[in-house]
Amino acid sequence: MPAGHATPDNPNAQTPLAPSEGSAVTEAPLVIDAAGWLSGGRRVESPNADERPAGEAICLAVIHAISLPPDEFGGDDILRLFTNTLDPAAHPYFAGIAHLRVSSHFLIRRDGELIQFVATTRRAWHAGVSNWQGRSRCNDFSLGIELEGGDAHPFTDAQYAALRPLLRALAERHPVQALAGHSDIAPGRKTDPGPYFEWPRLVGTGIPPRQC
Ligand SMILES: [Zn+2]
Repeated sequence: MPAGHATPDNPNAQTPLAPSEGSAVTEAPLVIDAAGWLSGGRRVESPNADERPAGEAICLAVIHAISLPPDEFGGDDILRLFTNTLDPAAHPYFAGIAHLRVSSHFLIRRDGELIQFVATTRRAWHAGVSNWQGRSRCNDFSLGIELEGGDAHPFTDAQYAALRPLLRALAERHPVQALAGHSDIAPGRKTDPGPYFEWPRLVGTGIPPRQC
């Protein structure tokens, strides 16, 4: 399901006076419920998550890119990695990662399908060793959003069309103040989402893009 269901009670869903603002007015709104799950979204629950530190505000959304095997799209190996069911013998690359205990809150596939692994209220294990504005352990206070892709590939229009309403929904539910790439919070160690990620396409989501 690329974009969830329209909710007629959202006054921002269609703005008759601003018909030319493109996708911002045509994308169906999404809702994150109080428990931290996307209403009506696909869930593949990951065990690789725990509680955030008490009182920690969720102030950052981190954009990642992933593909398994690397640079191959489709299939369910990302889902397997996040649920500790990846077969280390299925591909030479997998032997080195199948033992990892990692997750993200969301994955947006190439066709725009949105999958949630961890409730936003809980801590997903996506950032690793990281630092944002002098604060380490970014998993404590961030949301992780994986886009199926890689450093050498443009992302699809369907992915941006899913990401924008997701960011709006996250900003509605949590005090998200900033967006960052994994490469921004783990420089020298991570390169995702890579040079093809078009940050300007996130303008208008309610979160200032990459202000960190
Ligand atoms: Zn990453």
